[in-house]
Amino acid sequence: MGWICTKCGNCCRHVGEVPSMAGFAKEDGSCKFLENNICTIYDKRPPICNVAWVYEHFFKDVPEEEFYAKTEEACEKLRME
Ligand code: SF4
Ligand code: SF4
Repeated sequence: MGWICTKCGNCCRHVGEVPSMAGFAKEDGSCKFLENNICTIYDKRPPICNVAWVYEHFFKDVPEEEFYAKTEEACEKLRME
């Protein structure tokens, strides 16, 4: 199955809440590399920004469908904030 990221950019607007992304956050908590909803360093973005990478490295023991369903739920939560 493929990843269903809608490129809404909401996760990139909350990096201030992620300790390992502190160096990326502007004062409003959004990522300094997000411009017009596009990641300007996409090819060199940190691994944590890459959902497929996160799955491969940390959640491989969880069924892929389950992992992506949980991720979609998290995206939906962000959308409602
Ligand atoms: S919040 Fe989810 S759907 Fe939106 S850009 Fe981030 S990963 Fe993609
Ligand atoms: S580096 Fe790119 S993908 Fe990662 S939070 Fe910043 S804008 Fe989003």
